Parts: sequence; C-alpha cells; structure tokens
Amino acid sequence: MGVDAESRPRRTKIVGTIGPSSFAQGVIEDMIRAGLDVARLNFSHGTHDGHRKVAETIRRAEAATGKPIAIMQDLQGPKIRLGKLVAPITLAPGDEVVLSGLNDFVGEDARRLPTTYESLPYDVQIGERILLADGRLELSVVGVRDTEVACKVEVGGVISSSKGINLPGTRTSIPSLTDRDIEDLKFGLQLGVDYVALSFVRSPHDLTIIRDHMRRMGRIIPVISKIEKPQAVEFLEGIIDASDGIMVARGDLGVELPPEQVPTIQRRAIRMARERGKLTIVATQMLMSMTKHPRPTHAEVSDVANAVCDGTDAVMLSDETASGDYPVKSIEVMSALVASAETGDEPYEVPAFAESLRKSHAWAISRAAVVTAHELGAAAIVSYTHRGLGPRLMANWRPRCQILGCATTDEEVRRMTFYWGVRPLRIAPPSSIESLVTAAESVTLDRGILKRGETIVITSKMPLIENQATNILKLHTIANR
Ligand code: ATP
Ligand code: MG
Ligand code: MG
Repeated sequence: MGVDAESRPRRTKIVGTIGPSSFAQGVIEDMIRAGLDVARLNFSHGTHDGHRKVAETIRRAEAATGKPIAIMQDLQGPKIRLGKLVAPITLAPGDEVVLSGLNDFVGEDARRLPTTYESLPYDVQIGERILLADGRLELSVVGVRDTEVACKVEVGGVISSSKGINLPGTRTSIPSLTDRDIEDLKFGLQLGVDYVALSFVRSPHDLTIIRDHMRRMGRIIPVISKIEKPQAVEFLEGIIDASDGIMVARGDLGVELPPEQVPTIQRRAIRMARERGKLTIVATQMLMSMTKHPRPTHAEVSDVANAVCDGTDAVMLSDETASGDYPVKSIEVMSALVASAETGDEPYEVPAFAESLRKSHAWAISRAAVVTAHELGAAAIVSYTHRGLGPRLMANWRPRCQILGCATTDEEVRRMTFYWGVRPLRIAPPSSIESLVTAAESVTLDRGILKRGETIVITSKMPLIENQATNILKLHTIANR
C-alpha cells in the first residue's frame, strides 16, 4: 500500500471514533499524522467529564500537529437497549422470553428481561419482530400484558447486558431527540464541538426540533442525519434537504432492513446529497477485521474503494479506532486505500444539481471556478469563505485540482475539514481583494502548497463580510519575484 500521498493529496476525508484505544494524546497525534480529519465522540458511551477530557486532548493534538481537526458529537438518539443482566443468557429457538418496559431490576433469566424502553408494551403488536444484539437474535411478539411483552425466540443466541434492541416493523412513539440527547447537545455546544450527528432520524421534522434547541442554546452548528431507519430511507429527500449532511450508518440500517438493500441505498443517498450540495459519510465496519488484525480483508478493501467511487465526502471508522488493537494502523490503511481508489482515471460523475442550488450566485461562481481551473490547468482554487458554502459547492463538482478553503477563525477552518478535496487554511482577515491575494500567496508559499509561477483561481466576495455569498472570481499567477 505504498501510495505517495504527497504527489496528489487525498481528497476523501477520514472520520475516526475516539474511544479507549485512542484516548492518549500520542495516539491521537499519530492518527492525525496518518490522515485523521474528523474526530467522532460517541455519546452512547462515556461521561460528560470523560468527553470533555477527550475534546481537550484532541485540541492539544491538533495544536501539536498543526492540522485542523473537527469534532463531531454523535448523539445516542432513541437507541433501545437491554438493561443489566446478572450473566449472559442463552436463548434457544422456541423458548418464551418476556421483555419488560421497566429497567429497575437486574435480569436473571428469560422469564423477565429489563429494557430501556418504557413504552415497549404500548408500541409493539402481536406478530411483530424484535431483533436483539445487532440483529443476531430474532424474537416474535406473542402477547402484551401491562408492562410486559411476551415473545417467542425465532433465531437463538447469547445475549448480555446493554445489547441493542431493534424494532424494524414498529412505529415507535419514542422521540428522536430524547431528554438525554438534549442534555448532551447542550454540553457539546458548550464544549465547542463542530458538528452534531443525530441518530435514528425518522423525518425532516426531527431536524427542525434539534435546530430549535440549538437556537435556544445560543449556538447553531451543522447537523448530520444518520440514516439508519427504514423511515429515513422512505423520507430520504426531505431529510437531506433539512440536514447539512447525512451519514449512511450501515450497522443499524442493515439490521432494520434486509442487508442486501444497503449498498444500493448507500449509492442513492450519496447521489441525492451531492445533488443538493450536502455532506456525506459512509460509516460502520469499513475495516472491521482491523480491530484484531493489522491488515484488512479483500472485501473491506473493495468496500472502501466503492464508497470512494460512490463519491462520498468522508469514510468513518468506529470500533477500529475506538476499541480496536490498531487505531493508528487503521487510519494509515484507510488513508492508503482511499488515495489508491482516487487515482483511478474515471472522472467523478457530475450530479444533476438541484434547482434550488442552481439559482444561487455562489453556485454559478463555483462552476465557473472549476471549469476555469480545469481549462487553465490551475494549481488550485483558493476560496475565501466564512460559513464554507463556496468550498463545499466547488467540492461537489469533484474537480481535479485542490480546493484551498481560506477562513479567518478556527471554527470556520475546522468545519471545512469534512469537505471532499478541501484543504482548510487559516488566514488573517483581509481588508481588500488585494490583501486576500497576498494572504493566500504567503500562506501557500510558506507551507510549500504552491510554487511561484503557478496559476490559481480565487473566489471571494464583495463586500468582504460574513453574510455576503461568494460572488467574485479572480485569476492570479503567483509572482516570480
Ligand atoms: P454505535 O451503534 O452508536 O456505533 P457502538 O457501541 O457500536 O455504538 P462505536 O462508536 O462503534 O460504538 O465504538 C465502538 C466501541 O468503542 C463501543 O462499543 C465502546 O465499547 C467503545 N467506546 C467508544 N466510545 C467510547 C467512550 N467514549 N468511552 C468508552 N468506550 C467507548
Ligand atoms: Mg449509534
Ligand atoms: Mg458501532
């Protein structure tokens, strides 16, 4: 896997979950050097104190390596789990099992098992399927009484404390943003996370709810909708329109839907999001075997390459970096696989951009910039931005040359770490287009990103204020002084 990353910078971004295997600053620094772009904190696990420490460690590692890193807070959402069990329990086909809506006791055997879902007896109906432990076990509902649901084991296996429960056919009454999520969100916003991912999104309305909370809490950041419910697939278009990005969370999705549908959904979701200028992440089990082995399987190598060819902005690692034996190696391998998949000659397909996008000035400039850069053989597109829309639109064309996203605050710079093909750079606030050109020249020359004599395409705005969308295109050759 000896891809020379320097000859052509990798464009697809890498998200890594930080967990017990990667809590140490040295490990995070090595992960950043190996190619990590975005750090994910999974709020299904850990404590607020623990997450604060991790965030501080990430910021120190970011400073030590000099590479901006976004932090994505992943909210647990209405994940239903078993409560505590005394010991693992084996369930055989045909056995009767009772699931309780209560979670105030420790389960001893199949006669009564605690769950975290109070409304379980109200929401399920006789004949519906209940899946346990990532879908490994299957139950069918045979009766409902008071606080309990009687089930028959269809597919047996072993269960233990806190294993996940999925109700694929059930319309649950549990809200998408639980009280705990609201607490976690408030904490995350104060902590300064750059993105928030919402689990088990079911409708566009879920996005209205989380944004209302953010508005009330005084800080609005981009929201990534995790596509992991059949309902989310049903309302995909509306959910994409209402979100800043989507994550194809293949773990729960493949449990709630027939797993063979997942690859097609992945491709369709990425295309729909790109058509609308939204971010995409492909997640779950990309290099799963690397939790225990230093090399990926051939199937995993193909999976990564397919995600890259589908045109995703980012690929994500979960257990590999959070709890696996090879957190740094996993990033190294991911980086090499992605770079290699990108060297294929196939140019990325240009999507049929949504009508709403095509009407904007920023879209027209992004298109002009990409076409001009291509025809002039420009070394880079330099895009001055506040909220990152200009670079994101350019990234959606998947141009051959790199996009240098220039912004003046750490927060704005970090946001762009997620965008395909965008290298975020921090510059001093320019007072004029001339000073922007000077700033772009010096930062790129200093870091060896560009050379004298090279041509760049610059996009900016006039006036140079936050609320102004990208509306200027300028060509510039770096002076041969
Ligand atoms: P999800 O379905 O949301 O992905 P998960 O349990 O699969 O939940 P991952 O984010 O995939 O969690 O992380 C893999 C494992 O790493 C977890 O199962 C957990 O054991 C461990 N882990 C992750 N984050 C933390 C944390 N902050 N503190 C402790 N353990 C963690
Ligand atoms: Mg989850
Ligand atoms: Mg997981």
